[in-house]
Amino acid sequence: MATTRTFSIIKPDATRRNLTGAVTRMLEEAGLRVVASKRIHMTKDQAEGFYAVHKERPFFNDLVSFMISGPVVVQVLEGEDAVKRNRDIMGATNPENAEPGTIRKELAESIEANSVHGSDSDENAKIEIDYFFKPEEIVG
Ligand code: UDP
Repeated sequence: MATTRTFSIIKPDATRRNLTGAVTRMLEEAGLRVVASKRIHMTKDQAEGFYAVHKERPFFNDLVSFMISGPVVVQVLEGEDAVKRNRDIMGATNPENAEPGTIRKELAESIEANSVHGSDSDENAKIEIDYFFKPEEIVG
């Protein structure tokens, strides 16, 4: 399996509860290495652009409001099969359906405030990494 990269966001519900370290520890224990990280407060434009694919979904406006309700930590993660590895440790979108031991099962508050984002394909990982990071900010 090749070493690849994925994009992660520690969402406002997790930063608010001071869980940046707890989330990062779970990512690291799952075999992912943080090769870039920064704490930002997204603008509305930034959040709308990031979630543009969900524009027509009923939860879009609430999701954007939630994502700009506090700081987030955007990260680039590296590891073997990084996209899948990250999705596995994140758990299902709705924490009620997530497996025990996953970030969302252990830490998330609700289907919206579900603590983490993770890219769902290598192609989207590249787009999402480029959306937030300059190449020189990533130190592998
Ligand atoms: N979301 C929501 N309500 C829903 C489905 C999704 O608020 O019914 C939010 C949730 O924060 C989720 C994000 O929208 O993480 C993106 O949804 P997606 O289906 O891409 O889930 P993910 O890939 O994050 O598991």
